[in-house]
Amino acid sequence: MSKSSPIWHPFTQHAVLQEMTKITGGSGAYLTKADGEKLLDAIASWWVVTHGHCHPHVIGAIKEQADKLDQVIFAGHTHEPAERLAQQLLNCTPDDLDYVFFSDSGSTSVEVALKMALGYWHHLGENRQRIIVLENSYHGDTIGTMSVGERGVFNQPYNPLLFDVAKVPFPSAGNEQATIDELEKLCAQGDVAAFIVEPLVLGAGGMLMYSAETLRALYEICKKHNTLFIADEVMTGWGRTGKLFACEYAQITPDIACYSKGLTGGSLPLAVTMCSSEIYDEHYSTDRSKTFFHSSSYTANPIACAAAVANLEIWENEPVYERIEKLIEMQAAGLARFKDDDRFTNIRQTGTIAAMDINVKDHGYLSDVGPRLYEFFKSKNLLLRPLGNTLYSMPPYCVTQEDINQIYDAIAEAADELL
Ligand code: PLP
Repeated sequence: MSKSSPIWHPFTQHAVLQEMTKITGGSGAYLTKADGEKLLDAIASWWVVTHGHCHPHVIGAIKEQADKLDQVIFAGHTHEPAERLAQQLLNCTPDDLDYVFFSDSGSTSVEVALKMALGYWHHLGENRQRIIVLENSYHGDTIGTMSVGERGVFNQPYNPLLFDVAKVPFPSAGNEQATIDELEKLCAQGDVAAFIVEPLVLGAGGMLMYSAETLRALYEICKKHNTLFIADEVMTGWGRTGKLFACEYAQITPDIACYSKGLTGGSLPLAVTMCSSEIYDEHYSTDRSKTFFHSSSYTANPIACAAAVANLEIWENEPVYERIEKLIEMQAAGLARFKDDDRFTNIRQTGTIAAMDINVKDHGYLSDVGPRLYEFFKSKNLLLRPLGNTLYSMPPYCVTQEDINQIYDAIAEAADELL
């Protein structure tokens, strides 16, 4: 077993995966490997790349901003990129999300959401501290976000540090009422601060999909019982489900929403947590103990904000929705090739996200089939990284029909050779 590099990679078992693929460049839907070959990025580099790698408009904005202001403490200071971005966000997110709190990853945006919710009830003087979550959710890998996510092999050693939450079952098709009833029962107990949910698609939990109708029903229960509704749109945001945000399908405005990943189009780390005036106002006081005590050193980094501003301009200046529509159709046709293939089950799609399960006995995240397929796809110059026995594709919106063919041809080949 070699230990040839000092770098410890994320979600990587180095004893199994010994050689990292060295990447030297990126353009559009492709990454360039050190050997000069191109790798099709079929998972948008962990779901962040929307308009393609190194989009010239975003890269230009980054360069321009880097020459002006690289970083400034955001407590007591502000800058134009943050102000412009906040205004753009107010214009494109659901009405009634009136305030923007910056952070730098999806996980921290969720941590901020949980703290806002607890702070709100605390300052109101109400004893509401319980969080309700959906079974199989993933909200990040920090202690707080693991607490509100699914417990399993990922977080077993850290369980003593995680706080208790109440859980409702995932609303699988035909079973939605059980979720709705359980949420109603828990909210009626009166001690619930918030319900946090990934709208329409549970990403890392296995690309599990549920209907907008159910999302709406869950939201209405929260409204009825005055439970704060937190939408974690870290993965589903920025067009992934077909609309800009998944909550639009259910025509709901969350009390708190988390956005990251595609916010900068995949160029730099940045996240925001947006909230209603009600929540902000409860923290607004000459009583300094009501200050929202949260920051990170790089909160609202000007270069990252400038990248996000430029990225959102692309939505206005290029036919992004047309690309998304086309991608949705291409993904549907790709999946349809496997509809009678019993090596795959649960073939499913929400917007640009396409997924299916590999029909193996050994399922779950540690299933051997995932790494074997990953290696196979790598040999075909395709970046496709299954989640256990769930295979999914979620490429940047600039992919072509040829690219999509490459993805589904490789899946067909992998099925013939490995399954
Ligand atoms: N929330 C959701 C729904 C996610 O899918 C992810 C990451 O995949 C996160 C939160 C955490 O985001 P990050 O990895 O940027 O911390």
